[in-house]
Order: sequence, then structure tokens, then C-alpha cells
Amino acid sequence: MTGGALQGARLLIVGPPGAGKGTQAGRIAESYGIPAISTGDIFRANVKNETPLGLQVKAIMAAGDYVPDSLTNELIEDRLGQADAVNGFLLDGYPRTADQVAFLDSLLAGKGEELTAVVQLVADRDEIVERLRKRALEQGRSDDTEEAIRHRQDVYLRETGPLIAEYGDRGLLLEVDGLGTVDEVAARVDDALSSRGIRPAAAA
Ligand code: AMP
Repeated sequence: MTGGALQGARLLIVGPPGAGKGTQAGRIAESYGIPAISTGDIFRANVKNETPLGLQVKAIMAAGDYVPDSLTNELIEDRLGQADAVNGFLLDGYPRTADQVAFLDSLLAGKGEELTAVVQLVADRDEIVERLRKRALEQGRSDDTEEAIRHRQDVYLRETGPLIAEYGDRGLLLEVDGLGTVDEVAARVDDALSSRGIRPAAAA
């Protein structure tokens, strides 16, 4: 490598709703010195600020549907082109479709890059449902019925299953047990990443 720049990791994090993905994503970003990029967060910010993109996706998101691949891919191309993502990134919530997987591959290939690893948070479905049900009760979210929670888990498995299989075939998957405290799960993530030679920024 020339220039002596530290080559960061290009990571994905996947896991079912309620597995603590957002929390772990934020922590990984901080300790590995790479930006955590959540397409859901970016879309939500656009809706809130009523940008042209936000106005376009508002109804789609409210219905719980996927934003079209063309818009989502364009958003990611733009975001990964920003300076802070040049030496690595952690994507959360993208890619979600086969088309997005292919787009990301070609986007990275165009820069002579590829994904480093995919962190998969794994958690027992019944445990997650129970956890989310308790949280909904505590927060008085009566719309979060057990049925709705189970449905979201099923959608996740159906939509994300093929992507996980694809990354598994490429040898990129790092399975991490997602049940336990934030610190326990974080320690497992660190172990998994270090098995691929990826270490926190301070220790690099
Ligand atoms: P999330 O917070 O990741 O669950 O995303 C919230 C919503 O944003 C989703 O329900 C979709 O409407 C939209 N969204 C986020 N990421 C994507 C993606 N990769 N592809 C399509 N739609 C997405």
C-alpha cells in the first residue's frame, strides 16, 4: 500500500429487529474509527426535514415497504463517496435486496475494493419477541403487539435470509451471539473481528 494510510474495514452488520443492531453499530463505529451508516436513519432524517427525497419516500416508509432500489443505491453511492467513508465504513440496513448486493459489489469493485466482513447478530426468535413485548408494555406502545413483532421477525428472515446465505458462501460472515448485555455482545463482536485481523482504531 502506498501513502501509509491506515486501511479501515468495510463492514456490514445484519440482525433481526430487536437484536441490538443499532447499539452495536454505534459502538463498532466509535471504536474502529469508521462511520456507521444506516439507510433507515438517513431516510428518516430526509422525511423529517422534508427534503425532495424525504417527500418521495415518506408514504413508502409509513407503509413499511422498501424504498425502491434505484433511490436507495443512489443514496449509498453518494454517502460512500463522502470523505469520512474513504477508509472504511459499517453499513446498517443496507443491502437488503439482491439488487442492492450487486450494486454495492460493483460500486466497491469500481474503486478496487471489496467487503471485509459481515457481522451477523444472531438471537433466538422467542427471546427477541419476549424482549420486545416487554419493552412495548413498559413504553405503553400498544401497537407493538406480539403478532406485529413476530411478523417483523418473519419479514426479516424471509428478506435477509438469501443475502446472509450469499455472504456466507463468500466466507464473509461472522456469526455473533446477540443475547446478553451490550458489553457482552460488544466483546464477542471484537473477538469475531479480530479473528479477521480487524482491530479497534486505538490498538491498531
Ligand atoms: P430501518 O430503520 O433500517 O428498519 O429502515 C426503516 C425504513 O427505511 C424501512 O422500512 C424502509 O422503508 C427504508 N429502508 C431502509 N433501508 C432500506 C434499504 N436498504 N432498502 C429499501 N428500503 C430501506
